[in-house]
Amino acid sequence: MEFKRPKHAPMNQQAPVEKDNPAVVRYSSMCFHCRNCMWTCIDHAGVLDRYTLENTLDNAICIYCGQCVAQCPGFAMSEKREYAEVKKAIADGDKIVIASTSPAVRASIAEAFGLPAEFSEGKLVALLKKLGFDYVLDTTFGADLTVMEEATELVHRIEKGEELPQFTSCCPSWVHYAELFYPELLTHISKTKSPIMMQGAVIKTWFAKKAGIVPEKIVNVAVTPCTSKKYEIRKDGMNAAGESLDMPEMRDMDNAITTRELAMWAKEQGIDFAFLEDAEYDSMTGTGAGTIFGTAGGVMEAALRTAYVMINGEKPPKEFFELKAVRGNESVREACVDMGKMKLNVAVIFGTRTAGEFIEEMKASGKKYHFIEVMTCPGGCIGGGGQPKGFVISGLAVPEKRAEILYRRDSAMDKRLSCENPEVQALYAEMLEKPCSELAVKMLHTEFKDCSAELHRS
Ligand code: SF4
Ligand code: SF4
Repeated sequence: MEFKRPKHAPMNQQAPVEKDNPAVVRYSSMCFHCRNCMWTCIDHAGVLDRYTLENTLDNAICIYCGQCVAQCPGFAMSEKREYAEVKKAIADGDKIVIASTSPAVRASIAEAFGLPAEFSEGKLVALLKKLGFDYVLDTTFGADLTVMEEATELVHRIEKGEELPQFTSCCPSWVHYAELFYPELLTHISKTKSPIMMQGAVIKTWFAKKAGIVPEKIVNVAVTPCTSKKYEIRKDGMNAAGESLDMPEMRDMDNAITTRELAMWAKEQGIDFAFLEDAEYDSMTGTGAGTIFGTAGGVMEAALRTAYVMINGEKPPKEFFELKAVRGNESVREACVDMGKMKLNVAVIFGTRTAGEFIEEMKASGKKYHFIEVMTCPGGCIGGGGQPKGFVISGLAVPEKRAEILYRRDSAMDKRLSCENPEVQALYAEMLEKPCSELAVKMLHTEFKDCSAELHRS
């Protein structure tokens, strides 16, 4: 009788991963069964203990966070690498290859070269230019744009008495967690796309027009701390630029490479990061508010600064520029924030297991919140599944140093309100008209779907 190898190892030994998982990959021959991936997927992601392979007909469930990769002490798990594809695009003289860097990468890339964690924006841009990118742009622009749309949506919901609390939507792993386990909350999740997806759609429309580039020649590459972005860029509906230009097959973002992949690529090319001369972004940069998006609590703080302006018609008081109530290392922080004309109950959470527990408690207690930020990774994107390893301990300790780097950068910047970003203002004036306009909704908003049936296919 022919022996048939089971598709997955038992769930009490490993976190199962499908071969077509767009974000993470397992090399079984290199696994020495330490079970770190299993415990991370249970204790941090809160996924593995919420389904059985029997009920899913042997299909692994995943929210693509890559925390199992971050916790694998060997080489049995990694992000699904795609930098070879990006190298090919750069070698193709017909393509215009554009990198957009997420805030958290500049706070961690130095570590990947054995250097102390430090703010490395200039060297990061120089590295990408040396690798052959035609343009290097900053996803903090996309973060400022996300704040404009998300803060407007929040103010609208409060004014109209629509579904509250509003949850943030910039973490695709959290969104997918809700699609699987809390579909009843999907109408509470902000409809705004994540900074990377907004960045992609705007590059292939507004930026392409300004720079005189044919959009279909552009290869957009997100340089990110996140494995989940590999999943998000390939989701249905992430082709707003293509839809608007009658080329629906064109994706807004073509590739996503992690901080670790970027360092691997640089080392293969023999580039010594420490000796690179600082370079500057070509265009599409952000404010201090966009920069702190890389930390847990940063999205909340950035959004509240601009929401204050929207509600009161004036700049927020100085405590909004170091909003202590939403900063810190705890995985749940709650605050009642005085917004001038109103007070808002807010919460900031990292870890999807913790988010699940918070939601259960919120339902049981009936406590009312206006705005809740959820990020999957420890400390937010600075602890992302694609970041240099060795800094995050047990998947739960916050990489405080990286957060401090981003907060220090924010406090040193002249512009610290997303609504003050001159390029974002120009985008609205020249193309989108105003936040949440008909065109802004088409380009920058999305829909979510109930995926709970995936848990019970039998
Ligand atoms: S990527 Fe996240 S959800 Fe998927 S197996 Fe790993 S820890 Fe679990
Ligand atoms: S917290 Fe950030 S890095 Fe982690 S999955 Fe979410 S978006 Fe990606």
